[in-house]
Amino acid sequence: MLQTDYDIVVIGGGAAGFFAAIHAAKGTKQKVVLLEKTNKLLSKVKVSGGGRCNVTHDCDYAAQLINHYPRGGRSLRKPFEIFGTQQTREWFEKRGVKLKVEEDGRIFPTTDDSQTIINCLFAEAKRNDVTIELKSEVTKIIKKEEGFSLKLKSGAHINCKKVIVTTGGQNKASGYDWLKQLGLKIERPIPSLFTFNVPDSDLKDLLGLSVNKGYVQIPGTKWKQDGPILITHWGFSAPAVIKLSAWAAIDLFDKSYQFPILINWIGLDEEATRTVLNDYKKQHPRKVVSTNQLLEIPSRLWQRICHKAEIEEDKRYVDLSKKQFNKLIEMLVRCPFEVNGKTTFKEEFVTCGGVNLKEVDLKNFEAKKIPGLYLAGEVLNVDGVTGGFNFQHAWTSGYLSGTSASQG
Ligand SMILES: Cc1cc2nc3c(=O)[nH]c(=O)nc-3n(C[C@H](O)[C@H](O)[C@H](O)COP(=O)(O)OP(=O)(O)OC[C@H]3O[C@@H](n4cnc5c(N)ncnc54)[C@H](O)[C@@H]3O)c2cc1C
Repeated sequence: MLQTDYDIVVIGGGAAGFFAAIHAAKGTKQKVVLLEKTNKLLSKVKVSGGGRCNVTHDCDYAAQLINHYPRGGRSLRKPFEIFGTQQTREWFEKRGVKLKVEEDGRIFPTTDDSQTIINCLFAEAKRNDVTIELKSEVTKIIKKEEGFSLKLKSGAHINCKKVIVTTGGQNKASGYDWLKQLGLKIERPIPSLFTFNVPDSDLKDLLGLSVNKGYVQIPGTKWKQDGPILITHWGFSAPAVIKLSAWAAIDLFDKSYQFPILINWIGLDEEATRTVLNDYKKQHPRKVVSTNQLLEIPSRLWQRICHKAEIEEDKRYVDLSKKQFNKLIEMLVRCPFEVNGKTTFKEEFVTCGGVNLKEVDLKNFEAKKIPGLYLAGEVLNVDGVTGGFNFQHAWTSGYLSGTSASQG
């Protein structure tokens, strides 16, 4: 039977909830319970990083780390200075989880299995006597003169001194109603981290081809991101696109995911591209353009770009008209497409939006208006790009809220 009195209640059994509960209970006599509405714990950790769990990122300085968060970034500098990527790595490694850094900076357990992280968090929760209750959805938090009373969907009530809310992102604004009732300001929830659908793309048959150093921009806006670009059967994917989806998430939602993009396939600007092509033309005037590609671009994509530039298959560099030469440059550095819709990237997504960060004191993630109530993880209006940044925020805010709640 559900016990009804605790010192600290943590609502939500995800990454932030476990970290908060462990640190709320650690080294104290506080009675801590973690309430999870489903019958599964750490379900996102389980599927994260393609089942490998990208725990954090190799980025030791808070000043650099904050550059990876479209929402929340600058405000998180101090929290990351206290519990950043270095502390996360040490925390897991001290508990026997060996970690490895991949070439792109993502950090995974050496087992390549997210269960390693789950086992570690379960063991720590057990060691610190955290009680866990499944199928316990909290529907209301009532602030009392001293402490809180929580109402559960089952009709039960739990009394406690402090509450840590770690309920994650919600895809509907109504999912935050119970927090709004406490007077907390909520930013509308909007999806972040997705790929672009381009139904009219004339490149779809080249699916699987990619470039490593391109960039994608949205003309008429400040949005531009560089990195690999992958051609898919529905449009475009890979880091340049996914990062752009995160930074421009609110704008793109407001445009109903219908907007133009310009792709630069080579990472060079117009002037540098012109120089490279002119030099090649001088040195190899008799070479056929469509079969002698320059720059780091797959040959089939180069041929298609030549076709888009209206260059005949047997045309030699020396015979290119000025118009064709300019059009080739244009298609290499500003290749236009119309996006119409989005697709989730490997089922990985985060919610942009949630509880406004101004509602919490960033020293300990306690609600400024409601002493004793803390918020941590994705329930806050914080989201990072892919690469381990979302978990890092969960560990940081979970650690600071739990540690603070445990005191007094
Ligand atoms: C497929 C996928 C892969 C991902 N991979 C990565 C990755 O590799 N690296 C990375 O950094 N990020 C990744 N992310 C993002 C990352 O998983 C999340 O940002 C992170 O899990 C958020 O943790 P959280 O504890 O704040 O919320 P959640 O993990 O969403 O946990 C919230 C929990 O609260 C419970 N809950 C909600 N409401 C209530 C209620 N009223 N009462 C009780 N319980 C409630 C929910 O059931 C849930 O278990 C991935 C996301 C997805 C979807």
